[in-house]
Order: sequence, then structure tokens, then C-alpha cells
Amino acid sequence: MNLILLGAPGAGKGTQAEAICDRLNIPAISTGNIIREAIKNATDLGKAVKGYIDAGQLVPDDVVIEMVKVRLSNDDCKNGFILDGFPRTVPQAEALDKMERNIDKVIDIEVSDEDIKKRLSGRRVCGSCGASSHIDYKPTAIDGICDKCGKDTIQRQDDKPETVQKRLDVYHNQTVPLKQYYAKQGKLFKVYGQEDVKDTTAMTMKALEA
Ligand code: AMP
Repeated sequence: MNLILLGAPGAGKGTQAEAICDRLNIPAISTGNIIREAIKNATDLGKAVKGYIDAGQLVPDDVVIEMVKVRLSNDDCKNGFILDGFPRTVPQAEALDKMERNIDKVIDIEVSDEDIKKRLSGRRVCGSCGASSHIDYKPTAIDGICDKCGKDTIQRQDDKPETVQKRLDVYHNQTVPLKQYYAKQGKLFKVYGQEDVKDTTAMTMKALEA
């Protein structure tokens, strides 16, 4: 199954992507994680895009489109994939259509802006493997330590309150139009993000079976 997870930053796309990945055994591809990894390793790409990510802006379309094209050509995507955080603009969605990887479903995780702000302020990510947690809603077993790899968790620079509003504005202006884009194709399935992650996951799984 070829899937897209749509939703505001902090809506829980990464968490749901992990759950689907476990269930369907297909890779979850997060453009945000690929970009952060490039920044951490100070690659040419990383150096070129750091300013955008820190400012809460989108990286230029051509850069992410190429990144996804390369990633989808990997063998592990043969039987399906989950795109988490791509596409984020209509030109990206059009470019994805041209890649001729038929998208089966687009799961749109709906969360209010007010809740997004609460969620992002408590979100932590592992500085090493990128796994996400939340100090209230999805705490790690040991405070500040990643459950998956045992390294320290950190707050993302762009989860700081001053950047969050900018990212929400970008989401409403550039990403929300994708709901209509995929609704027109009959592929949009809405899931209302719940406070308890387990409840959201149950609704996501239902959407996959629909
Ligand atoms: P995320 O982890 O998905 O919230 O992404 C973090 C940041 O990476 C975003 O705020 C953008 O700066 C950049 N980014 C990730 N995916 C995309 C995309 N599809 N298009 C443009 N920028 C992206």
C-alpha cells in the first residue's frame, strides 16, 4: 500500500507512520527526518537547507522532490511506503503524481491549532535516531532518554514557541490545499487526532481498512 500522512506539524504523523510501519511492514519516509539527518551530518544539502528549517519555512520544492524521488527508488519501497511530511505543497503533489507511484490513500490527521501548540511545546525527539515522544502524551520510560536507542531526547529548534506559529501559518497557506487535491481524487480519509495516541492509532487502522 502506498500511503501519505497529511496534517499540521505536531498532529502525530510521525507516530502514526511508525504504527502503520509496524502493522504493514512498509517503510515510513519522513522528509523532515531526512533533512535533519543531512543537517546533523553537515552535508551540502544540510548546509543549504538549515536556514529554512530553523525559520519554520518550507525547503524549496525542487530539493524535497528530488530527495523523495531518490528515496522511493530504493528496493524497500517496492511493496509500499508511507510518506510522512511529503507532499506539503500542490507542486510537490503534482510532482509525486508524475513519479507514477499510485497513491492508495491519504490519511489526514486533524488537530486544532490550539492543541498543536500544546503538543509541540511538549514534544521531544531523540537526538540520535529521531524517534518522537511527548512529555505528557507519550512519555519515554526514563525521562529524557529515548525508548528505542537509549540516547538523549531533545526539543527541536523549530518546536520552540516563536517558530511554531510560523509553521502553522505555512501549513494553512501551503499544505491545507492538498486536502482538496486528494479529496478530488477520492483518496482523502480524515482521522481526528485524539489525546490518547492509542485512540488515534485505532482510527488510523480503521481508515486503512476502509
Ligand atoms: P517535519 O519534521 O515534517 O515537521 O519537517 C520539519 C521541517 O522540514 C519543515 O518545517 C520544513 O522546513 C522541512 N520539510 C519537511 N518536509 C518538507 C516538505 N515536504 N517540503 C518542504 N519542506 C519540508
